[in-house]
Amino acid sequence: MIDIHCHLCFPGAYKNVNQVVLRAKKEMLGIITSSARYGEGLRVLELAEKNKGFVFPTLGYHPTEGTDHEGVLKLIEENRDKIVGVGECGLDYHWEKDPGKREEQKKIFQKFIDITKKTNIPLVIHSWDAEQECFDMVRDSGVRCVFHCYSGSKELAQEILDSGFWISVSTQVCFSKNHRKLVKLIPLEKVLLETDAPWLSPNKPEPNYPWNIKISAEKIADIKKVSKEEVLEYARKNAIKFFSLDI
Ligand SMILES: [Zn+2]
Repeated sequence: MIDIHCHLCFPGAYKNVNQVVLRAKKEMLGIITSSARYGEGLRVLELAEKNKGFVFPTLGYHPTEGTDHEGVLKLIEENRDKIVGVGECGLDYHWEKDPGKREEQKKIFQKFIDITKKTNIPLVIHSWDAEQECFDMVRDSGVRCVFHCYSGSKELAQEILDSGFWISVSTQVCFSKNHRKLVKLIPLEKVLLETDAPWLSPNKPEPNYPWNIKISAEKIADIKKVSKEEVLEYARKNAIKFFSLDI
């Protein structure tokens, strides 16, 4: 099992992140842990260094919560060989309603698209209530993209998939009818599983954990009429391929 997106190093996410990693190692093959602010970026690099070949870092900047995007861009350049992707980055029109600030978000996102292109690694996209705008910005970029926690329309999801991009399935599939509908559009050859842990827990009030992708796999198996094992096997292979993981 490989969780392609979570936030193990988000401030206050877990009392003891090392325990979470130890527990994950018992049943998982790897974890891609993302960051969305400068300090968090430093911590994911550190955690990945301590858990080489198991924890893989991505460096990004959250459109409304990020800090020091220039610092993050520099960190990406300096750590190109250590990271498996850029992100999460993107646009968030859910929390940002001001047109001027939305334009600012676009300018910063463009910088991250450019650096991703330059470094030739994948981009993990945050697109809350700005799915169309994010797609418009990356569609001709030539960058390998995954829309994480995609919650847009079915029509746009189809267009994104047809354009060769990826949409990862989060643990939202465990409790959201809308996300179960979206799963129907995603062929097994393109299924990627993510938790976005510590958020989106299928076992509230417990926080989410990377190994909960197996609960998502059960839901997807029901929808696709295949076994849970088959879903996990596809998701494992797809994750290795998409992020060029050295596992
Ligand atoms: Zn996230």
